[in-house]
Amino acid sequence: STKQHQVIVIGAGLSGLCAAKLLDKWDIDVIVLEARERVGGRTLTKRDPSVKYVDLGGSYVGPTQNRLLRLAKEFGVETYKVNEEEDLVFYEKGSQKRFNSVDALPRFWNPLVNLDLNHVWRTIDKMGEEIPAVAPWKAPNAEKWDRMTVRQFMEETCFTKAAQSLPSVLSGIIVATEPYESSLLWFLWYVKQCGGINRIASTTNGGQERKFVGGTQQISENIAKRLGDRVLLNKPTVSISQQEDVVIVRTLDGDEYQGKYVILAMSPILQMKIHFNPPLPILRNQLIQRTPMGSVMKCILYYKTPFWREKGYCGSMIINDTDEHPVCFSLDDTKPDGTVPAIVGFVSGDKVRRLASLSPEERKQLIARSYSKVLKSPEALQPIHYEEFNWMGEQYSGGCYTGTCPPGFLTCYGRVLREPIGRMHFAGTETATYWSGYMEGAIEAGERSAREVLNTMGLLSSHLIWQEEPPSDIIPIKPFKASFLERNLPSVQGLLKLIAVSTILEMAAVGAFYYLRFVKK
Ligand code: FAD
Repeated sequence: STKQHQVIVIGAGLSGLCAAKLLDKWDIDVIVLEARERVGGRTLTKRDPSVKYVDLGGSYVGPTQNRLLRLAKEFGVETYKVNEEEDLVFYEKGSQKRFNSVDALPRFWNPLVNLDLNHVWRTIDKMGEEIPAVAPWKAPNAEKWDRMTVRQFMEETCFTKAAQSLPSVLSGIIVATEPYESSLLWFLWYVKQCGGINRIASTTNGGQERKFVGGTQQISENIAKRLGDRVLLNKPTVSISQQEDVVIVRTLDGDEYQGKYVILAMSPILQMKIHFNPPLPILRNQLIQRTPMGSVMKCILYYKTPFWREKGYCGSMIINDTDEHPVCFSLDDTKPDGTVPAIVGFVSGDKVRRLASLSPEERKQLIARSYSKVLKSPEALQPIHYEEFNWMGEQYSGGCYTGTCPPGFLTCYGRVLREPIGRMHFAGTETATYWSGYMEGAIEAGERSAREVLNTMGLLSSHLIWQEEPPSDIIPIKPFKASFLERNLPSVQGLLKLIAVSTILEMAAVGAFYYLRFVKK
């Protein structure tokens, strides 16, 4: 028998749950159909006595993520600071550099590398200023930048090889893809809509500043609890049929649900598993083929003691080396009360594709050996416990952290990313305009899609669909201030031009002097 509702939300990740929560507040008869046997989607907290709890998916929260902080407050979930007291480490080609959290970047002996890094760091933000967060395809240079990869940009912008590699590793860390795969326009937009390169890349005062006590999945679980039996698990949607005044949704088990409206709250590429009737419009049908999910896995090594802290390291490592070093980025994952000492590492891009075939034990050994070299600490060879999770194997995620955009995508398809089709509306973090790719973006998108539906129902005025979130009082927002030098140092190319011009001027002056002094006489 067909069950009838006003709105059907598909996907019980944060986005779908937030859409349903808002509709429920308006007394709308809403249900959520979830493919998995659990809620939370890309957030997943494992509870186990050996680790207490551990976030295997989305985990970090920082200043400016005000919607996520609002929800955490509503459900009484507290945050704690990720340890960044001691030194961070940058490790490349067997060589270790220590730096601290006040400097965004490690310092190199070669001043040209430092000039280069300062320049590329600032250029990413400067270019981002030209890109509208809600419509990156409208940027004045959209076409040019959307035809370039991040790698081409790094090669063109950096003069030294050493400087090219750090931003490339960072792009792997930030979006879990290789710089050769993604569009420059998309990468610049992604960084911009998170508040700039310092905000997205930093721990202190940035996207990785804090975690939730007890784990992130609690937030989804709390919303689901409130919605009660209106969240249906093990219900993969297989078809959506739009008729004149209803939408019929069928799930894999043959059940049928009827609604006035439907909200699709999952990554665009996962919608390839759904049969649409009538078929999707041309651009939408191609759009969903073109947003591959990033490639990443989380690997957590547990130790008897936080030996790294004792040696003056905070546990943050940025590693750019061979496959002997699987992790590209790590953070201290010890619990806020100092128990369960651990380091969480991210293996992403080409490395995780190559190393995915190893056994968990082999990966653990490889990572432990790598940490022992990077931290110059034999203690790293003795982990007492190991957890890992590879999102690439998840049927209902396809990878993580988010859907990525190859060259050409945003300018050709971007404008239909969240455009409703009849009675069907789109949520999911990929459709957000602020912290898209993150939990914050998932919430923005879910709530916006719910307000779109309320507007279509005639219950909410259209100017209220998009709403700004007031700043949270949990984490104060501090701006990033560049020093005078950082603002005014030239690029390497600029410096070389300056030297060339001054050399020519000097030679001309010497020539003129000789001419006047000896020839003309
Ligand atoms: P999802 O969580 O993917 O929800 C979509 C839901 O739809 C899923 O539950 C899925 O099972 C369901 N579904 C799929 N297909 C169907 C179908 N056919 N029928 C019914 N249901 C279906 N974000 C941060 O803010 N901070 C971080 O530190 C962070 N780190 C991350 C680390 C990792 C390893 C990963 C995996 C993600 C990370 N993220 C982080 C990203 C963050 O988790 C996501 O952006 C966010 O959770 C996405 O929420 P969503 O609701 O948009 O999508």
